[in-house]
Amino acid sequence: MSLPPPLNPTARILMGPGPSNVHPRILQAMALPTIGHLDPEFIKIMDGTKAMLKTVFRTENELTLPVSGTGSAGQEACVANMVEPGDRCVVCIHGVFGNRMADMVARNGGEVVKVEAPWGQPIDPADVAAALAGGKTKLVAIVHAETSTGVLQPLEEISRLTHDHGALFLVDTVTSLGGHPVEVDAWGIDACYSGTQKCLGIPPGLAPITFSPRAVAALEARKSKVSSWYLDMTLVRAYWGQDRVYHHTAPVLHIYALYEALREVASEGLRARWERHNRAGSYLQDELKARGLELLAEPEHQLAPLTAVRVPERVDGPRVQERLLREHGIEIGGGLGPSAPAMWRIGLMGYNARVEIADRVLAALDTVLADEPTLSPTA
Ligand SMILES: *Cc1c(COP(=O)(O)O)cnc(C)c1O
Repeated sequence: MSLPPPLNPTARILMGPGPSNVHPRILQAMALPTIGHLDPEFIKIMDGTKAMLKTVFRTENELTLPVSGTGSAGQEACVANMVEPGDRCVVCIHGVFGNRMADMVARNGGEVVKVEAPWGQPIDPADVAAALAGGKTKLVAIVHAETSTGVLQPLEEISRLTHDHGALFLVDTVTSLGGHPVEVDAWGIDACYSGTQKCLGIPPGLAPITFSPRAVAALEARKSKVSSWYLDMTLVRAYWGQDRVYHHTAPVLHIYALYEALREVASEGLRARWERHNRAGSYLQDELKARGLELLAEPEHQLAPLTAVRVPERVDGPRVQERLLREHGIEIGGGLGPSAPAMWRIGLMGYNARVEIADRVLAALDTVLADEPTLSPTA
């Protein structure tokens, strides 16, 4: 075999559902000297990372750390640690990521009780109440920001119902953390996971998680071992806690990136960052609507960092996506999952959550749509 060519990826504007572009300062952090994962200097970096993560999650939870793996690893960590065989779990499904949650709960031996909402709509708390009334439930799981539909799910009412029942509340904040208000303590969230490549703007590879004292008590009261050795928080926390017991080699350079990104969040201010995402997202949404395009989510449940746009009738959605990438260097997403209606998903996350970046995609979309042939009505 001849030597494959050296890496030479084209710089893109990443406006899909993730990853988002990474701030140059964060990339520079990843080029700093690698040190050992038990080096006293690294341990200080770990402690700083944990402390800053608590601020971003708005929690006092002691068990707050980045899982080594992408957002899905955080999801699996929450499910695997909270669910034991036979546990009845209410899983809310208003898009692709809720479905994935149901699959994970079932793989861990949980009994899945599904509560569903149609595409583009949030879960109705009354449906959760009805599901809880059906039997003693260990856990209610839900996605806060459904990246497959652009819907922001209100959480407080469902949290109240969950706690009135005595169940644990598990929430996916992969696309909201750092881009939308997330209030782990105030909203009574017991197990929460996120990812780094969306609104935090770090390359994919880490999944911040946080467990409330109630979640830790449930973990400690388990009758069976956590099915995954790698994601077993009773083992992982021994490394991230005072004992520093080797469990796995932390991805040192990714932790540098997270540390630097969290410093960035702290210096910008969490509220200012939420506001920046909100401004950029609302601007994009208003401009899309002004062009006669239709959004999938209703305005009162519309996410700022991710906008799902219906592909106009007789326009070839994937072809437009491909042209944006090839002719304009802009990546946007398409529909996710076999039952998704024809859509484009446009992300304004992290470093990219700016009006100038929204203008880039709008101008490119105008240019492409102006000379796109329309499909014949029978196509
Ligand atoms: C992206 C995403 C995930 C999965 O994260 P990965 O980093 O792709 O593993 C989970 N939930 C939601 C809502 C997401 O948007």
